[in-house]
Amino acid sequence: MDMNIQARALALMAVWAMISNSSPAQTPATPGAANPGERIEGFTDTPMLPGGKWHQHDPNRPQPLVVTPGAKFSQGVAPPSDAEVLFDGKDMSKWEGGLEKDPNWKGQAASWKVQDGYVQVSPPDGTDIRTRGKWSDFQLHIEWATPTETAGLHGQSRGNSGVLINGMYEIQVLDSYNEKTYPDGAAGALYGQMPPLVNPSKPPGEWQTYDIIWESPRWDVKGEMTQKPSLTVIYNGVVVQHGTEPIGRTEGIGAGVAYKGKPFFKPHDPAVFIQLQNHHSNPVRFRNIWIRDLNAAERQ
Ligand code: MG
Repeated sequence: MDMNIQARALALMAVWAMISNSSPAQTPATPGAANPGERIEGFTDTPMLPGGKWHQHDPNRPQPLVVTPGAKFSQGVAPPSDAEVLFDGKDMSKWEGGLEKDPNWKGQAASWKVQDGYVQVSPPDGTDIRTRGKWSDFQLHIEWATPTETAGLHGQSRGNSGVLINGMYEIQVLDSYNEKTYPDGAAGALYGQMPPLVNPSKPPGEWQTYDIIWESPRWDVKGEMTQKPSLTVIYNGVVVQHGTEPIGRTEGIGAGVAYKGKPFFKPHDPAVFIQLQNHHSNPVRFRNIWIRDLNAAERQ
Protein backbone atom coordinates (compact mmCIF):
# COMPACT_ATOMS: atom_id res chain seq x y z
CA MET A 1 0.00 0.00 0.00
CA ASP A 2 2.73 2.42 1.01
CA MET A 3 4.61 1.50 -2.14
CA ASN A 4 1.53 2.32 -4.26
CA ILE A 5 1.18 5.78 -2.70
CA GLN A 6 4.85 6.43 -3.26
CA ALA A 7 4.60 5.31 -6.92
CA ARG A 8 1.55 7.55 -7.49
CA ALA A 9 3.32 10.50 -5.90
CA LEU A 10 6.34 9.95 -8.14
CA ALA A 11 4.11 9.71 -11.23
CA LEU A 12 2.33 12.95 -10.27
CA MET A 13 5.67 14.67 -9.77
CA ALA A 14 6.83 13.48 -13.20
CA VAL A 15 3.65 14.82 -14.84
CA TRP A 16 4.02 18.13 -13.00
CA ALA A 17 7.64 18.42 -14.13
CA MET A 18 6.55 17.77 -17.74
CA ILE A 19 3.84 20.45 -17.56
CA SER A 20 6.25 22.93 -15.98
CA ASN A 21 8.87 22.34 -18.66
CA SER A 22 6.39 22.78 -21.47
CA SER A 23 5.39 26.25 -20.23
CA PRO A 24 6.88 29.11 -22.22
CA ALA A 25 10.17 30.29 -20.82
CA GLN A 26 9.85 33.49 -18.86
CA THR A 27 12.58 35.77 -20.13
CA PRO A 28 13.22 39.24 -18.76
CA ALA A 29 12.07 42.02 -21.06
CA THR A 30 14.81 43.44 -23.26
CA PRO A 31 14.40 47.13 -23.96
CA GLY A 32 13.12 47.59 -27.50
CA ALA A 33 12.47 43.91 -28.09
CA ALA A 34 9.07 42.49 -28.82
CA ASN A 35 7.69 40.27 -26.08
CA PRO A 36 7.10 36.68 -27.18
CA GLY A 37 3.74 36.42 -28.84
CA GLU A 38 3.22 40.18 -28.86
CA ARG A 39 1.30 41.34 -31.89
CA ILE A 40 2.90 44.25 -33.68
CA GLU A 41 1.04 45.80 -36.59
CA GLY A 42 2.77 45.53 -39.94
CA PHE A 43 2.89 43.77 -43.28
CA THR A 44 4.95 41.13 -45.02
CA ASP A 45 3.11 41.26 -48.34
CA THR A 46 5.05 44.41 -49.16
CA PRO A 47 8.16 45.02 -51.31
CA MET A 48 11.55 44.00 -49.93
CA LEU A 49 13.74 46.90 -48.82
CA PRO A 50 17.38 47.18 -49.98
CA GLY A 51 19.50 44.54 -48.28
CA GLY A 52 16.85 41.93 -49.00
CA LYS A 53 16.22 41.12 -45.35
CA TRP A 54 13.09 43.00 -44.39
CA HIS A 55 9.83 43.85 -46.03
CA GLN A 56 8.56 47.39 -46.04
CA HIS A 57 6.58 47.82 -42.77
CA ASP A 58 7.90 44.46 -41.53
CA PRO A 59 6.56 43.75 -38.01
CA ASN A 60 9.32 41.17 -37.46
CA ARG A 61 12.15 43.64 -37.91
CA PRO A 62 13.88 44.26 -34.53
CA GLN A 63 12.38 47.14 -32.57
CA PRO A 64 14.78 50.08 -32.18
CA LEU A 65 16.56 49.95 -28.84
CA VAL A 66 15.05 52.30 -26.27
CA VAL A 67 17.37 55.13 -25.20
CA THR A 68 16.48 57.62 -22.47
CA PRO A 69 17.27 61.04 -23.90
CA GLY A 70 18.66 63.98 -21.97
CA ALA A 71 16.18 66.38 -20.49
CA LYS A 72 16.21 69.17 -23.08
CA PHE A 73 18.87 69.23 -25.83
CA SER A 74 17.58 71.87 -28.30
CA GLN A 75 14.12 72.18 -26.78
CA GLY A 76 13.06 75.82 -26.60
CA VAL A 77 16.36 76.95 -28.13
CA ALA A 78 16.48 80.48 -29.56
CA PRO A 79 17.00 80.45 -33.35
CA PRO A 80 20.52 81.33 -34.56
CA SER A 81 20.84 84.79 -36.12
CA ASP A 82 20.97 83.45 -39.69
CA ALA A 83 17.89 81.22 -39.33
CA GLU A 84 14.58 81.96 -40.95
CA VAL A 85 11.89 81.63 -38.31
CA LEU A 86 8.99 79.62 -39.71
CA PHE A 87 6.85 79.66 -36.56
CA ASP A 88 7.54 81.72 -33.45
CA GLY A 89 4.51 80.60 -31.49
CA LYS A 90 2.15 83.17 -32.99
CA ASP A 91 2.71 83.94 -36.65
CA MET A 92 1.79 81.30 -39.26
CA SER A 93 2.18 83.58 -42.30
CA LYS A 94 5.09 81.48 -43.61
CA TRP A 95 2.67 78.54 -44.03
CA GLU A 96 -0.23 77.70 -46.31
CA GLY A 97 -2.88 74.99 -46.43
CA GLY A 98 -6.62 75.59 -46.27
CA LEU A 99 -9.56 73.25 -46.27
CA GLU A 100 -9.71 70.05 -48.31
CA LYS A 101 -12.86 71.08 -50.16
CA ASP A 102 -11.09 74.16 -51.51
CA PRO A 103 -9.33 73.37 -54.81
CA ASN A 104 -7.00 76.29 -54.09
CA TRP A 105 -6.09 75.04 -50.60
CA LYS A 106 -2.38 75.36 -51.26
CA GLY A 107 -2.55 79.12 -51.55
CA GLN A 108 -4.82 79.63 -48.55
CA ALA A 109 -3.73 80.59 -45.06
CA ALA A 110 -2.89 77.61 -42.84
CA SER A 111 -6.06 76.25 -41.25
CA TRP A 112 -4.40 74.84 -38.14
CA LYS A 113 -5.11 76.29 -34.70
CA VAL A 114 -2.56 78.54 -33.00
CA GLN A 115 -2.75 78.88 -29.22
CA ASP A 116 -0.44 79.15 -26.23
CA GLY A 117 2.68 79.28 -28.40
CA TYR A 118 1.99 76.18 -30.49
CA VAL A 119 0.09 75.22 -33.61
CA GLN A 120 -2.11 72.13 -33.55
CA VAL A 121 -3.33 69.91 -36.36
CA SER A 122 -6.91 70.86 -37.16
CA PRO A 123 -9.63 70.82 -38.34
CA PRO A 124 -10.96 67.47 -39.63
CA ASP A 125 -11.42 68.91 -43.11
CA GLY A 126 -8.08 70.70 -42.98
CA THR A 127 -5.19 69.68 -45.18
CA ASP A 128 -1.54 69.24 -44.47
CA ILE A 129 0.18 72.60 -44.20
CA ARG A 130 3.34 73.57 -46.05
CA THR A 131 5.86 76.39 -46.09
CA ARG A 132 5.54 79.06 -48.72
CA GLY A 133 9.36 79.11 -48.90
CA LYS A 134 11.70 76.50 -50.42
CA TRP A 135 15.26 75.45 -49.70
CA SER A 136 17.59 72.93 -51.36
CA ASP A 137 19.87 71.95 -48.48
CA PHE A 138 18.92 72.93 -44.96
CA GLN A 139 19.05 72.52 -41.20
CA LEU A 140 15.53 72.44 -39.75
CA HIS A 141 14.60 72.69 -36.09
CA ILE A 142 11.08 71.69 -35.08
CA GLU A 143 9.43 70.69 -31.80
CA TRP A 144 6.37 68.48 -31.48
CA ALA A 145 4.18 66.84 -28.89
CA THR A 146 1.69 64.01 -29.31
CA PRO A 147 -1.68 64.00 -27.47
CA THR A 148 -1.87 62.84 -23.87
CA GLU A 149 -5.20 61.16 -24.62
CA THR A 150 -4.03 57.70 -25.73
CA ALA A 151 -6.85 55.39 -24.55
CA GLY A 152 -7.56 52.74 -27.17
CA LEU A 153 -5.00 54.18 -29.58
CA HIS A 154 -2.08 52.08 -30.77
CA GLY A 155 0.69 52.09 -33.33
CA GLN A 156 0.05 54.29 -36.34
CA SER A 157 -3.12 55.73 -34.76
CA ARG A 158 -1.25 57.23 -31.83
CA GLY A 159 -0.20 60.82 -32.43
CA ASN A 160 0.57 60.34 -36.10
CA SER A 161 1.87 63.29 -38.08
CA GLY A 162 5.02 63.82 -40.05
CA VAL A 163 7.57 66.21 -41.49
CA LEU A 164 7.21 65.68 -45.23
CA ILE A 165 10.08 67.17 -47.21
CA ASN A 166 8.56 68.47 -50.45
CA GLY A 167 5.47 66.41 -49.59
CA MET A 168 7.56 63.41 -50.70
CA TYR A 169 9.96 62.23 -48.02
CA GLU A 170 8.35 61.70 -44.62
CA ILE A 171 10.16 61.78 -41.32
CA GLN A 172 7.56 60.11 -39.14
CA VAL A 173 6.05 61.86 -36.13
CA LEU A 174 4.37 59.37 -33.80
CA ASP A 175 3.99 58.46 -30.14
CA SER A 176 6.61 55.70 -29.91
CA TYR A 177 7.01 55.90 -26.12
CA ASN A 178 6.40 52.41 -24.69
CA GLU A 179 4.48 51.77 -27.89
CA LYS A 180 5.43 49.56 -30.81
CA THR A 181 4.68 49.59 -34.49
CA TYR A 182 6.53 48.35 -37.56
CA PRO A 183 10.00 49.89 -37.01
CA ASP A 184 10.14 51.71 -40.34
CA GLY A 185 7.00 53.56 -39.24
CA ALA A 186 8.17 54.58 -35.74
CA ALA A 187 9.00 58.13 -34.65
CA GLY A 188 12.24 59.20 -36.32
CA ALA A 189 11.84 56.73 -39.19
CA LEU A 190 12.14 57.69 -42.81
CA TYR A 191 8.69 56.27 -43.31
CA GLY A 192 8.61 52.86 -44.96
CA GLN A 193 12.32 52.94 -45.72
CA MET A 194 14.57 53.26 -42.67
CA PRO A 195 13.75 52.77 -38.97
CA PRO A 196 15.34 55.11 -36.45
CA LEU A 197 18.73 53.82 -35.22
CA VAL A 198 17.35 53.88 -31.65
CA ASN A 199 14.16 55.00 -29.90
CA PRO A 200 14.73 58.11 -27.70
CA SER A 201 11.01 58.95 -27.47
CA LYS A 202 9.55 60.97 -24.62
CA PRO A 203 6.07 60.40 -23.16
CA PRO A 204 3.00 61.74 -24.94
CA GLY A 205 2.34 65.39 -24.18
CA GLU A 206 6.02 66.21 -23.61
CA TRP A 207 7.81 68.41 -26.12
CA GLN A 208 10.28 66.58 -28.34
CA THR A 209 12.82 67.93 -30.81
CA TYR A 210 13.84 67.11 -34.36
CA ASP A 211 16.97 68.70 -35.76
CA ILE A 212 17.01 67.66 -39.39
CA ILE A 213 19.80 68.07 -41.94
CA TRP A 214 18.71 67.54 -45.53
CA GLU A 215 20.47 67.62 -48.87
CA SER A 216 18.19 67.49 -51.88
CA PRO A 217 18.73 65.09 -54.75
CA ARG A 218 19.89 66.52 -58.07
CA TRP A 219 19.22 65.34 -61.59
CA ASP A 220 20.83 66.34 -64.88
CA VAL A 221 18.85 67.48 -67.92
CA LYS A 222 18.53 63.88 -69.09
CA GLY A 223 16.84 62.94 -65.84
CA GLU A 224 19.82 61.00 -64.46
CA MET A 225 20.37 61.44 -60.73
CA THR A 226 23.68 63.20 -60.17
CA GLN A 227 23.44 63.55 -56.39
CA LYS A 228 21.57 61.31 -53.98
CA PRO A 229 19.48 62.89 -51.25
CA SER A 230 20.83 62.69 -47.72
CA LEU A 231 18.92 62.79 -44.43
CA THR A 232 20.24 63.19 -40.90
CA VAL A 233 17.82 63.43 -37.98
CA ILE A 234 18.71 64.20 -34.37
CA TYR A 235 15.72 63.25 -32.20
CA ASN A 236 15.76 64.60 -28.65
CA GLY A 237 19.54 65.01 -29.00
CA VAL A 238 20.08 61.47 -30.32
CA VAL A 239 21.08 60.68 -33.91
CA VAL A 240 18.40 58.42 -35.40
CA GLN A 241 19.12 58.94 -39.11
CA HIS A 242 22.73 59.39 -40.17
CA GLY A 243 23.28 60.34 -43.78
CA THR A 244 20.39 58.11 -44.78
CA GLU A 245 19.85 58.01 -48.54
CA PRO A 246 16.15 57.76 -49.35
CA ILE A 247 15.42 55.15 -51.99
CA GLY A 248 12.59 57.19 -53.47
CA ARG A 249 9.51 59.08 -52.48
CA THR A 250 7.87 57.91 -49.29
CA GLU A 251 4.89 55.76 -50.18
CA GLY A 252 1.38 56.58 -49.22
CA ILE A 253 1.58 60.32 -48.67
CA GLY A 254 0.13 61.46 -51.95
CA ALA A 255 3.42 61.83 -53.76
CA GLY A 256 2.50 59.35 -56.47
CA VAL A 257 3.67 56.19 -54.70
CA ALA A 258 0.76 54.10 -53.43
CA TYR A 259 0.61 52.96 -49.80
CA LYS A 260 2.66 49.75 -49.55
CA GLY A 261 4.06 50.56 -53.02
CA LYS A 262 7.74 50.43 -53.88
CA PRO A 263 9.43 53.81 -53.42
CA PHE A 264 10.75 55.46 -56.59
CA PHE A 265 12.07 58.85 -57.57
CA LYS A 266 10.67 61.35 -59.95
CA PRO A 267 12.98 64.26 -60.75
CA HIS A 268 12.08 67.51 -59.02
CA ASP A 269 13.55 70.91 -58.40
CA PRO A 270 16.15 70.72 -55.60
CA ALA A 271 14.38 73.60 -53.82
CA VAL A 272 11.80 71.92 -51.59
CA PHE A 273 9.15 72.99 -49.09
CA ILE A 274 8.46 71.61 -45.62
CA GLN A 275 5.05 70.03 -45.10
CA LEU A 276 3.43 68.94 -41.84
CA GLN A 277 0.98 66.09 -41.92
CA ASN A 278 -2.67 66.21 -40.90
CA HIS A 279 -3.04 62.47 -40.36
CA HIS A 280 -6.76 62.00 -39.82
CA SER A 281 -6.59 65.04 -37.55
CA ASN A 282 -4.48 63.36 -34.84
CA PRO A 283 -4.14 66.49 -32.66
CA VAL A 284 -0.33 66.75 -32.72
CA ARG A 285 1.23 70.09 -31.72
CA PHE A 286 4.25 71.90 -33.15
CA ARG A 287 6.29 74.89 -32.00
CA ASN A 288 9.63 76.71 -32.39
CA ILE A 289 10.21 75.99 -36.08
CA TRP A 290 13.18 77.52 -37.86
CA ILE A 291 15.39 76.70 -40.81
CA ARG A 292 18.93 77.52 -41.98
CA ASP A 293 19.83 77.52 -45.66
CA LEU A 294 23.08 75.55 -45.98
CA ASN A 295 23.93 77.22 -49.29
CA ALA A 296 23.55 80.79 -48.08
CA ALA A 297 27.29 81.22 -47.39
CA GLU A 298 28.19 80.05 -50.90
CA ARG A 299 26.01 82.72 -52.48
CA GLN A 300 27.64 85.61 -50.64
MG1 MG B 1 2.88 60.18 -40.45
